[in-house]
Amino acid sequence: MHYDYLIVGSGLFGATFAYRAKQAGKSCLVIDKRPHLGGNVYCENIEGINVHKYGAHIFHTNNKAVWDFVNSLVPFNRYTNCPVANYHGELYNLPFNMNTFAQLWGVRTPDEAKTKIEEQRAEALAALQGREPRNLEEQALCLVGKDIFYKLIKEYTEKQWGRDCKDLPAFIIKRLPVRFVFDNNYFNDAYQGIPIGGYNKLIAALLEGVEVKTECDFFKEYKDNWREIANQLIYTGPIDEYFDYKFGRLDWRTVSFQTRIEDTPNYQGNAVINYTSHDVPYTRVIEHKHFEMFGQSVYDCPKTVVSEEYSTEYQPGMEQFYPVNDARNNLLADQYRTLAAQEINVLFGGRLAEYKYYDMAPIIEKVLNLPL
Ligand code: FAD
Ligand code: UDP
Repeated sequence: MHYDYLIVGSGLFGATFAYRAKQAGKSCLVIDKRPHLGGNVYCENIEGINVHKYGAHIFHTNNKAVWDFVNSLVPFNRYTNCPVANYHGELYNLPFNMNTFAQLWGVRTPDEAKTKIEEQRAEALAALQGREPRNLEEQALCLVGKDIFYKLIKEYTEKQWGRDCKDLPAFIIKRLPVRFVFDNNYFNDAYQGIPIGGYNKLIAALLEGVEVKTECDFFKEYKDNWREIANQLIYTGPIDEYFDYKFGRLDWRTVSFQTRIEDTPNYQGNAVINYTSHDVPYTRVIEHKHFEMFGQSVYDCPKTVVSEEYSTEYQPGMEQFYPVNDARNNLLADQYRTLAAQEINVLFGGRLAEYKYYDMAPIIEKVLNLPL
């Protein structure tokens, strides 16, 4: 069989590409080195619960076309991400909003909260003497002031990044919204949810009728001879590996998970609890059932599955999760991108091949807009 496309990787990039190719009447073979399809959105069913094996995945987008596309394949539920922070046993709503301000300071109105935040920021703003914040610590202190910084940001960030907040770039914290309304929704996007029945259903719908092979490593089976079986290669694996690491290895940030079953129907009452103090070694605890079971239905399933997340320094062989955007890695990635642009009939796509962090919706949007 000769295919129009050999697609390396069955994550959202590869699977969406295969879907479009099939719709266009093209033939394709999708291979993945893992024993399952779906890349990082894959879920393992444990005790009737879809466990997000490669980290919690919440779909959110402002793009109606992307939302309509995924919902045409599998309907999405009403999950809304509302993480809670635990600081030495005190609970605070995230992102920083009127609920958080009321919990921290007992304020009741937006005006009271603004006055309090102005007081909290004053010292940091004065210290800057009009210049821009130079690091995450300065940025956070100027944005929300000292109470929030010391209780909800500093130690969490240092656990997550393994570095002092003074040595981290300011832009990391700009992503965290600050709101003077009682709204715990972590995202500002118009659409948000989890596929009903889990992400595997979305992947199954994308790959329906497509030939797939798991436990098949491109470098062992097809690297030297793929042109004999396909016209074009869609490569979604790591870009440095494709070029045999000839300029050196790209670095990644990774997370390790300790997952266990708890013999209770409701362990923490929320999908995501962030532990914002140093004395707890993990950053977050995920209770997976809350992504798909709401209200009383949580109790229909007698057990629960929780995962502690530990931020870990990446070593070769670990999961490659987040690109590291420092000077060395940006330069290295550019060198590989230059080589990639010279490969004939090969498209490098997705977070590993582009060495770029993408949320799920932008990946789908990108593939929907590719010329076939
Ligand atoms: P992947 O899903 O990684 O797929 C690549 C596939 O290629 C893998 O299956 C891999 O096995 C395969 N492969 C690699 N090399 C080879 C080879 N040599 N031979 C064969 N197969 C190979 N996005 C959100 O929108 N919301 C979230 O809440 C969210 N949470 C996230 C949490 C974490 C911890 C991480 C890391 C990401 C998160 N994302 C989230 C982003 C989301 O995971 C990505 O957008 C999406 O997975 C990208 O899909 P992809 O196809 O590019 O990559
Ligand atoms: N952050 C924090 N406290 C929290 C949650 C987040 O200080 O309880 C900071 C932290 O520095 C993190 C950044 O905000 O790196 C962005 O967090 P987000 O959850 O948006 O991103 P992710 O962790 O998914 O990269």
